[in-house]
Amino acid sequence: MYRTHTCGELNIKSVGINVALSGWVQRSRDLGGMTFIDLRDRYGITQLVFNMDTNATLCEKARKLGREFVIQAEGAVAERSNKNLKIPTGDIEIIVQKVEVLNASEVPPFTIENDTDGGEELRMKYRYLDLRRTIIKESLELRHKMAQEVRNYLGSKNFIDIETPMLIKSTPEGARDFLVPSRMNHGQFYALPQSPQTFKQLLMIAGYDRYFQIVKCFRDEDFRADRQPEFTQIDCEMAFVEQEDILNVFEGLIKDLLLKIKGIEFDGPFPRLSYNEAMEKYGNDKPDIRFGMCIKELSGLVKGKGFNVFDSVEYIGGICANGCADYSRKQLDALTDFVRRPQIGAKGMVYVKYNTDGTFKSSVDKFYDENELKKWTGHLEAKPGDLLLVLAGDKSGTLNALGELRLEMGNMLNLGNKDVFAPLWVLDFPLLEWDEETKRFYAKHHPFTSPRPKDISLLDKDPAAVRANAYDMVINGVEVGGGSIRIHDRHLQQKMFKVLGFTNEEAEEQFGFLMNAFRYGAPPHGGIAFGFDRLVALFAGHESIRDVIAFPKNNSGRDVMIDSPATISNEILKELSIKIESQKK
Ligand code: ASP
Repeated sequence: MYRTHTCGELNIKSVGINVALSGWVQRSRDLGGMTFIDLRDRYGITQLVFNMDTNATLCEKARKLGREFVIQAEGAVAERSNKNLKIPTGDIEIIVQKVEVLNASEVPPFTIENDTDGGEELRMKYRYLDLRRTIIKESLELRHKMAQEVRNYLGSKNFIDIETPMLIKSTPEGARDFLVPSRMNHGQFYALPQSPQTFKQLLMIAGYDRYFQIVKCFRDEDFRADRQPEFTQIDCEMAFVEQEDILNVFEGLIKDLLLKIKGIEFDGPFPRLSYNEAMEKYGNDKPDIRFGMCIKELSGLVKGKGFNVFDSVEYIGGICANGCADYSRKQLDALTDFVRRPQIGAKGMVYVKYNTDGTFKSSVDKFYDENELKKWTGHLEAKPGDLLLVLAGDKSGTLNALGELRLEMGNMLNLGNKDVFAPLWVLDFPLLEWDEETKRFYAKHHPFTSPRPKDISLLDKDPAAVRANAYDMVINGVEVGGGSIRIHDRHLQQKMFKVLGFTNEEAEEQFGFLMNAFRYGAPPHGGIAFGFDRLVALFAGHESIRDVIAFPKNNSGRDVMIDSPATISNEILKELSIKIESQKK
């Protein structure tokens, strides 16, 4: 028997019993005639003691045990004189009578501690060592607990877990597909699912009116910090529902998770914002509402006073940063540089300091006197000591820049407490998005999303004005989930494909199976998918979803441990009839 107990379970009540423990050597210390070893396994750390006076041979043996050796130790549990209050086993230690090396270890390339000396790339290369660190282990345990709770909650609401295939045909979620060549079907490829979207709709048509799956999805997208080429969704679909039904069930899921996992009771319904409100107040369709600092339009107040920069633009708006009137020139310059970054795109920034003594100082004093500035501060509800930051330009770009500036200020002022969870629904998204480059509309969500019934007539006249029956759930500025009520009428779906620029043949070729299914009694249905990695990262308080994925890919989509993707031998390529062209310079 390798072990009678784990390294996390012995305590003062165990004193006197003989035990066997197995695990890894976390660290060892020689103190005079004694050697102490911290033995670690998944469950905790237990101190082993070896005494030179009572058993010199054993003590010598213990001194040779290096970090990360796998050992088995047998001995008696004793009360410690020098207790460690920080760990559950800190009251006891094992007086070792026998120790055996189960496997030696080379010196690990970084320390297996929460505060490790290993950089990210090195840790990813040796991810199996990185995974030994408590901080990562706790994330994976949390992930497991959350998955269990999701199953419990959805199971209790009659959802059933149904698997859908991985080798499929393209699903239009807006990214590129990962492709898998088919050996048996010469020249043909499977696509890995960007989501189970079409399958879950087919399940509704098949009568399985509540489906869910915790499922891998694959999207070949450019890298961003909160993205991985393969990621996990809690994917759900329901039949015979309206938007309100879906919002209720899934608000319930998040409340259940907050309560069971974080012990947070969320009173009342989640706030709801329309897409337009979100953009106008927060400059963002996934607003972080843990803090205010909302954007307000100033155009009416500031135009027509001879300041050409404001007079010549579509929109002027500002935010009020509480208690920042004492910002130095340097701090204001840094903010100006921030909004001028190409990804943010503002041309410049105007500030107004509402000093604590009631006076004003602004970067536009030449054009606006105190009386005028007082109107601005009044409109933005500023108090003495506050600072107004104002941007101008085209409406959507300026709102976006103000949104980024608001988040930057929120960060600098530490307004986003990680232990606070501020969920909300964002509703009434536009159905379509115009793309200037290709001069066509794209589905903002995906092509199966239904327009709001009262907007259907606008599809022909003014497609850009059509709102969708779609919703996103946002927590602390992270879009954790999104979905929609679907189109279940064949003709409306056909029309939608047409608006999106598909010919009848293209629509038939790609989605004929779904359009056909709509002929055989498709019930009204809708659903949602949550980004499970993001949700876990948020609950764990981690910035990156990589911290909650056992084997993530790096910034370039590589797994540096197994060294993938990799080239394929010529024989295999031949079997697949694939020829690799040498890369053009
Ligand atoms: N399939 C959608 C997505 O992955 C979610 C949904 O509409 O249910 O974003």
